[in-house]
Amino acid sequence: MKQVSMLPAASLERPTWQGTEGSFWSTASKESSRQPHKCTWKQILPREREWKGPFYFIQGADPQFGLMKAWSTGNCDSGGDEWGQEIRLTEQAVQAVNKLKPRPRFFVLCGDLIHAMPGTPWRKEQTADLQRVLARVDSDIPLVLVSGNHDLGNAPTPETVAEFQQTWGDDYFSFWVGGVLCLVLNSQFWYDASRCPALKQAQDQWLDQQLSIAGQRECQHAIVFQHIPLFLQNIDEDDDYFNLTKSVRREVADKLVRAGVTAVFSGHYHRNAGGTYQNLDMVVSSAIGCQLGQDTHGLRVVVVTAEKIVHRYYSLDELSEKGIEDDLMGLMKEK
Ligand SMILES: [Zn+2]
Repeated sequence: MKQVSMLPAASLERPTWQGTEGSFWSTASKESSRQPHKCTWKQILPREREWKGPFYFIQGADPQFGLMKAWSTGNCDSGGDEWGQEIRLTEQAVQAVNKLKPRPRFFVLCGDLIHAMPGTPWRKEQTADLQRVLARVDSDIPLVLVSGNHDLGNAPTPETVAEFQQTWGDDYFSFWVGGVLCLVLNSQFWYDASRCPALKQAQDQWLDQQLSIAGQRECQHAIVFQHIPLFLQNIDEDDDYFNLTKSVRREVADKLVRAGVTAVFSGHYHRNAGGTYQNLDMVVSSAIGCQLGQDTHGLRVVVVTAEKIVHRYYSLDELSEKGIEDDLMGLMKEK
């Protein structure tokens, strides 16, 4: 069944960012024009560089419109012609986030926004439907979007990267929130950059620059968002579909650790997992959409205090019915 989009697709304004700061999505404040539009973090940058006390944000991953049907039919390559379940789940996620008090500082989606790969059927329709659902995120909660393998293709090309940028915004960028440096990365460049070596090189150079800022400890914390986890449990685990290869993961992890990055948030696994490597917390969050394990459809609440970053995964039902638990909220009161 073809899904019908209720609202016109989002404006395809090109990102203005050219390499130092990024763009993120916000939503129009007027009910009559609830279409997502991109803003730039440059506007809020000056007052966000300083630590002003604890805050929290929400992390989600893999709404992946279309995977549940594709998985159920065993045809993950060209299946996925329905995504009504993912629409309902993502609507529930958006409603749960909108209900939270106080407001999360931002809502980040760590990739695989939709299931249909570049150049395959249903991509346009899935994108339009997801944009319609995300347009309902409250206008004072910035929405940060990360690119996944289904968004860019397993081996991205300059064309698929450009398409992502036009549809969703930059594929890598940084922003500051309350004294915390946040780096959004395109992990496909570490998975297979054979068709876009120059783009990979550009991200690597940019990342080194950004990490030198983090390394000078000009931030309270530095954290990373990317789609594919560096590892699922252990830095020495074997390579598989869901992690980055051993040589890449070790090189990237060492670089992040040296710069003082303390957490990497990811998705892609459709299960909760994670582990630590030196001072780095590798966080793997299950999906808003299709589950491949025993976890529930859910979101992760991440509390950032002066000293630490504490996070907990909530099912969508739990988060929308009960909100965030007192112990986590208590951390927000610490000075
Ligand atoms: Zn993925």
